[in-house]
Amino acid sequence: MKIAFAKPGLRATGVVVVSAGAGSKLSASAAKLDKKSGGALSRAIRASSFEGKKGHSLNVLALAGTKLDEVMIVGLGKPGDITELEMQRLGGRIYAGTKQAKKGSVTVAVDAVTDAKITAADIATEIAYGAKLRSYRFDKYRTKLKPAEKPNIKSLTLQCAGFANARKKYASLGKVADGVFFTRDLVSEPGNVIYPDTLAKQAKTLEKLGVKVQILGEAQMKRLGMGALLGVGQGSARESKLVVMQWHGGPKGKGKAAQPIAFVGKGVTFDTGGISLKPREGLDILKIDMGGSGAVIGLMKALAGRKAQVNVVGVIGCVENMPDGNAQRPGDIVTSMSGQTIEVIDTDAEGRLVLADALHYTNQRFKPKFMVNLATLTGAIMVALAHHNAGLFSNNDQLAERLTQAGLEVDETLWRMPLGEAYDKMIDSKIADMKNLAGRLGGSITAAQFLQRHVDNTPWAHIDISGIWAETDTPTVPEGATGFGVRLLDRLVKNHYES
Ligand code: MN
Ligand code: ZN
Repeated sequence: MKIAFAKPGLRATGVVVVSAGAGSKLSASAAKLDKKSGGALSRAIRASSFEGKKGHSLNVLALAGTKLDEVMIVGLGKPGDITELEMQRLGGRIYAGTKQAKKGSVTVAVDAVTDAKITAADIATEIAYGAKLRSYRFDKYRTKLKPAEKPNIKSLTLQCAGFANARKKYASLGKVADGVFFTRDLVSEPGNVIYPDTLAKQAKTLEKLGVKVQILGEAQMKRLGMGALLGVGQGSARESKLVVMQWHGGPKGKGKAAQPIAFVGKGVTFDTGGISLKPREGLDILKIDMGGSGAVIGLMKALAGRKAQVNVVGVIGCVENMPDGNAQRPGDIVTSMSGQTIEVIDTDAEGRLVLADALHYTNQRFKPKFMVNLATLTGAIMVALAHHNAGLFSNNDQLAERLTQAGLEVDETLWRMPLGEAYDKMIDSKIADMKNLAGRLGGSITAAQFLQRHVDNTPWAHIDISGIWAETDTPTVPEGATGFGVRLLDRLVKNHYES
């Protein structure tokens, strides 16, 4: 779908979208169309239950006095309802409501709204962004799809005052959408296609955007002493990898201003649980266990794509967790890169083992301003928060607040969970420095405590992802891989860390 911005009033064909506010008050463009049709638009509204409320719409076919196939009237609600997020949602609904447009062309006439918080150009930009986010599909393996089962929309044109500004602003948001789509692709791919080596190769494709990408294999990780990460992958036929991505968009040199920020992702490309094998039900979905690393790759793509003025490091630990004659056993003791020993009580608590080494490595090599790690770490976080908030754990209030705020702004919300000495004690082992599982109680918290033992005093936040896969469509996230984390972290960077 091609997205374009144009000046208001240009003649449109196919489907036109106009708006109405609360009480069915027609926008200027809608009123013009109504007049042209001899009042047929208002009659259609009166004959329906449409009242211009947000989230509501009315489609009128073959409007009298026009050559249009269809007019979609969308409700904007009250001026106070017109926010960035609401306009993105509206864009998603417009896409869903017009994607079968016969002629493939959809034009949205965006008018300024008195007392709205954002301008017509911004409304247009956000509608375009929302439509784009909703348009994602993953059907590369469906070879028998009929044309009628695919969307027919080819172009979405937004007409508004200040369209050149809208186009410019969208150029940047479109890059964020590209990052989200990349993450959704990576998470959607099955485990026989995406495994450590191929995931690393996908990260490598970012080089063409100017990202420096380095891939470490098992021999190099062994030399670095990454016993925790390597233990997880030792039952797999696929070699474990650590990928380091660097984007230098900020100040150069070695001073404090050039100090990078860092994002670290869990990349378990398939999680069987290992010898602590998971039950067979729902095992197929465990291909999503690389979602944290998928988000870090998508984020790097977004930041490099929009040429963000910041120095960023993205590190992902890529392993496959398989049962095998050579697999790690429950009870094994491994030594992490930090020198601390870990009793592996349960081989299904593997994500924290991978992250422990990835975090320590990132901290030691880059001395970042802060580290944020993302992971589909525990099922317990979904028990606590369902899919509606991701769990946020942090040793730094400012970082936690900034993340929480960014989440609210992009609709990827976080809920802060506790950390503390009493929880930390729960992972003490009788035979090693710590154990990788403390039992069911507080399962997400003890996992976070485990990570904290590998970050020293560096400001750090851990995001335990709960909404990696959507069962149903929402306005800007179609069912399937959500791409969670890309928009959130891009916003965090944009709000606070660009020079
Ligand atoms: Mn697991
Ligand atoms: Zn896992």
